[in-house]
Amino acid sequence: MDVRFDGTSSRRLLARLRDIMAGSGSGQDRLDKIVTLIAAEMKADVCSCYVMRAGEVLELFSTEGLNKTAVHNTRLRVGEGIVGYIAGHARPVALDNAPSHPSFAYRPETGEDPFQSLAGVPILRGSKVRGVLVIQHKDRRRYVEEEVETLQTIAMVVAELVAQSELVNPVEVTTTGDPVLLPARLSGTAMSAGLAMGLAVIHRPQLTVRQMVAEDADAELERFNTALQTMHSAIDDLLEAASLAGLSEPRDILETYRMFAEDRGWLSRIREAIRVGLTAEAAVQQVQNDTRARMSHLTDPYIRERLMDFEDLTNRLLQHLAGKTTGTDSATLPDDMILVARSMGPAELLDYDRSRLRGLLLEEGSPASHVCIVARALNIPVVQAADALNRIEPLDQLIVDGDHGQVFIRPAEDIQMAFGEAVALQHRKEQMYAEIRKFPSVTRDGVPISIQLNCGLLIDLPHLTASGAEGVGLYRTEIPFMVRASYPDVKAQTDLYSRIMDEVGEKPIVFRTLDVGGDKMLPYMTGGEEENPALGWRAVRIGLDHPSLLRQQLRALLQAAGGRPLSVMFPMIAEVAEFDGARRLLELELKRLAAQGIEPPSTLRVGTMLEVPSLLWQLPALLPKLDFLSVGSNDLTQYLFAADRGNPRTSTRYDPLSPSMLCVLRRLVDECTRHKVSLSICGEMAGRPLDAMALIGVGFRTLSMSPPSVGPVKTMLRSLEVAALRDYMSGLYTGADHSLRDKLKTFAKDHGVII
Ligand code: PEP
Ligand code: MG
Repeated sequence: MDVRFDGTSSRRLLARLRDIMAGSGSGQDRLDKIVTLIAAEMKADVCSCYVMRAGEVLELFSTEGLNKTAVHNTRLRVGEGIVGYIAGHARPVALDNAPSHPSFAYRPETGEDPFQSLAGVPILRGSKVRGVLVIQHKDRRRYVEEEVETLQTIAMVVAELVAQSELVNPVEVTTTGDPVLLPARLSGTAMSAGLAMGLAVIHRPQLTVRQMVAEDADAELERFNTALQTMHSAIDDLLEAASLAGLSEPRDILETYRMFAEDRGWLSRIREAIRVGLTAEAAVQQVQNDTRARMSHLTDPYIRERLMDFEDLTNRLLQHLAGKTTGTDSATLPDDMILVARSMGPAELLDYDRSRLRGLLLEEGSPASHVCIVARALNIPVVQAADALNRIEPLDQLIVDGDHGQVFIRPAEDIQMAFGEAVALQHRKEQMYAEIRKFPSVTRDGVPISIQLNCGLLIDLPHLTASGAEGVGLYRTEIPFMVRASYPDVKAQTDLYSRIMDEVGEKPIVFRTLDVGGDKMLPYMTGGEEENPALGWRAVRIGLDHPSLLRQQLRALLQAAGGRPLSVMFPMIAEVAEFDGARRLLELELKRLAAQGIEPPSTLRVGTMLEVPSLLWQLPALLPKLDFLSVGSNDLTQYLFAADRGNPRTSTRYDPLSPSMLCVLRRLVDECTRHKVSLSICGEMAGRPLDAMALIGVGFRTLSMSPPSVGPVKTMLRSLEVAALRDYMSGLYTGADHSLRDKLKTFAKDHGVII
């Protein structure tokens, strides 16, 4: 009779496991006992434990049911066989027909041919896979969730055993490649610009969970609830502090974060694990291991960022359970510190004393991560580089070059001096940019140029005053959507837009409707995988196919404006009919507003982005319908050259400062002038001094850019004589050049333009 494994069986197994761990014997002895225990209690024909050795090899360390002679002889590479598959994907597998799995690899020395079904889990410690634990049955059977969960719990205990009893030589599990103490350089990705020098502070939030199994589940639940409450109020304090510090705001990020902390699914999974018999710490850790394992194969950057939020919360909870507050006691930290972390949440960054924080080095993360968004707003250079934690010791001297994605570890004196000068120069430049804010944005020969900002979060808006920009030329509304756990309703959107308008005050702001899809996925939006997302279902295409989505956003914008001016811009318009479709939805919402007696905006301006080349051949039909047009040069370059902007192999292959791109831009200037439509440009080009110079030469008079670009671009244009540039450029449009960058640089040099 098949007696199914249930909660009672699981608790009994865990209790016996606790006895083994408390008892005596070597690591190997205890591992053998654990394997035997699992096989007996789970009525499995086989239970085996594979341990990770140097070179990413999984060695059979203990087995009950397979040939004992295979122990310490059978080895599998990560990715090889089902065991290697589990290690490679860091997630559990339960198969009723293992031999039919594509990764199945038969190892005759183990004698495993009679076994049909297999359930295996990774042995995880932190984010690293330290081995694999497997059970096998002769018959074909479907494993129940409880069995897999129990194996995962046991795997946590085994992970500690592997780490503490030195089953393998500890040097095998750390991978320090370079001799420590020698200077080294890491090449990574630049995530927030600027240079920083300081001493390494290793941010190690992970606390080791020592006690896995609890005797009194109720008491554990009580401890968990108390820790959760303390964590909530600590996050509330952070929110309060962020507001008080006038950082109006990392609030929207922190509020989202607070929402994660209240995520019911997450909390109920932890509580369930405690009820099954784990300590509160082990339950928090297990749910995190499980979440990480389930999500680790997903490459979508926004989902990965959500994973980091949960990692951050897990660490906080563990700290509160251990009765510790955050480990950032400033008395012990150096004055100039560079934080080094595997990953980090925005709240964790804000835990540190900002007056000492010079730079940040992350092993994992993307420029769109919350922590990077906050770091950029605080002007903290950030580099992401793999392997940083293995190479850096606490208080090592570090240089973080956030402009070029480089990190220098224990740099030699000459490098330190060179960078010291560069840092000093950067400070002097920043002072100069701050000074220049007071001066008009006019070229040397008196041509006024409007500098506007690209923003996406409330946290960006204080830059409007600080930079002296005239307004917001592009507000990317999708960014607040991306940092939320679910789609915001009309009320939430209205509140947000009206706060943005309050903050911006009298200055103009252009709201771009939702531009998601492509590389900007919403965690809660499922459109299915696309083979070619950049050419896929994105931006206004989604809005036109789901008019209710776009209408809700337009409704929120109209309501938020109530009596104030409103400018709305549609992204990715590829033909006039699409603009007409989007405009119709706006008209419907205007009617609805009137029917409800809600005050309409005082003025309404409607425009489109020009990102898709097809629109260039419909300008005479399009322009009469528009109040303004803004060039999205990032996408326009991508589509003009058929070169993926997100692919490092193609993204820099073509230069926007090429005759073809500049011809397109010049034609736009001519057509917009003829139709009296205001024209601006809001892609990254506008924020690079040399490119901005060329744009002014082509005829652009409104440039929208990210806040740090304002100073350099304004400095450039105040040193520029437009007439001379225009004359010079008139000879460049018809050439066969790949790029005009060098010629334009030479012009700048010869004419004293500061770029
Ligand atoms: C652009 O494409 O240039 C643009 C400004 O839009 P985004 O970068 O948000 O796609
Ligand atoms: Mg775009």
